[in-house]
Amino acid sequence: MSETATDNDFSIELFPPKGPKGEARLDEALADLGALNPAFFSVTFGAGGTTRSGTLDTVKKTMQATGRPAAPHLSCIEGTRDSIGDLLDNYKAAGVDRIVALRGDLPEGMDQPGVFNYANELVTFIKERHGDDFHLEVGAYPEFHPAAPSPKDDVDNFVRKVQAGADSAITQYFYNADAYFNFVDEVEARGVDIPIVPGIMPITDFGQVSRFSAMCGADIPRWVRQKMEGYGDDKASVRAFGRELVYNLCEQLLAGGAPGLHFYALNKAEPTTTLWQDLKLPTTASSAA
Ligand SMILES: Cc1cc2nc3c(=O)[nH]c(=O)nc-3n(C[C@H](O)[C@H](O)[C@H](O)COP(=O)(O)OP(=O)(O)OC[C@H]3O[C@@H](n4cnc5c(N)ncnc54)[C@H](O)[C@@H]3O)c2cc1C
Repeated sequence: MSETATDNDFSIELFPPKGPKGEARLDEALADLGALNPAFFSVTFGAGGTTRSGTLDTVKKTMQATGRPAAPHLSCIEGTRDSIGDLLDNYKAAGVDRIVALRGDLPEGMDQPGVFNYANELVTFIKERHGDDFHLEVGAYPEFHPAAPSPKDDVDNFVRKVQAGADSAITQYFYNADAYFNFVDEVEARGVDIPIVPGIMPITDFGQVSRFSAMCGADIPRWVRQKMEGYGDDKASVRAFGRELVYNLCEQLLAGGAPGLHFYALNKAEPTTTLWQDLKLPTTASSAA
């Protein structure tokens, strides 16, 4: 086992499935991912309100199927103070003790989010209403949020979320470890001392990762893109190179002091379980910080 791994927290992100096939795929994934005993699962919340109940249902299902905690993502898109407050009450009643508080991405045609414009306002609201009932996670962007006017503004805005009461952060995925270490150094110099856990996107389908990256601003290094594109339809080579690349990234992050890893599993078990085993991460239950 990697020595740095034992004291850290490792978590896994899922999304609410659509339709019977999606449900079946999630059930299958939960059986394998639950066996890893992650510190917690998290479940995304789709913009536009389409999966608000889907997130709650998937959180409940995940906790029941795996016996592990599950944290719903909650965004500022749509909703009133009352409706967001009701949702928080429902989460509390369902035994949820962690929330990933986000601004969310605006659906096309929507200029303004709902009652809160930015995640720091949502964090403030949750803290005011629920005190320390929930451990609050927020998003972090080592390669900067694509809409931020400047890196400095983005760091200022991250610090604002921490000052509002965030307990820890999960990053957007990235493939440059230096971007993460630089970000952590910069915010620590600003007095931030909460854990900032790298978000890890396994690569098994390069086309898909490439599309996601174009949307969220994650940089794919040129040499990686060239190699991946050079493999063309050779899926085995894409997977083998992706596995090695992401393994090396995780090793580097843990060796450099990252407080854990958060895997974007996309409701598939295999890429995450493979990395988990390659990295020799613990499979006995630990509690998240
Ligand atoms: C771990 C993780 C999980 C995610 N899960 C989901 C999900 O489930 N559903 C979903 O829709 N999206 C999700 N996203 C994407 C996220 O919603 C988008 O990246 C969104 O555009 C920003 O969300 P945020 O909470 O980081 O926003 P914020 O921290 O509010 O930042 C948004 C932008 O506004 C700027 N900003 C922040 N605060 C202020 C302020 N007070 N004044 C002026 N400017 C400000 C920031 O610099 C940034 O450019 C996730 C992202 C991450 C990292």
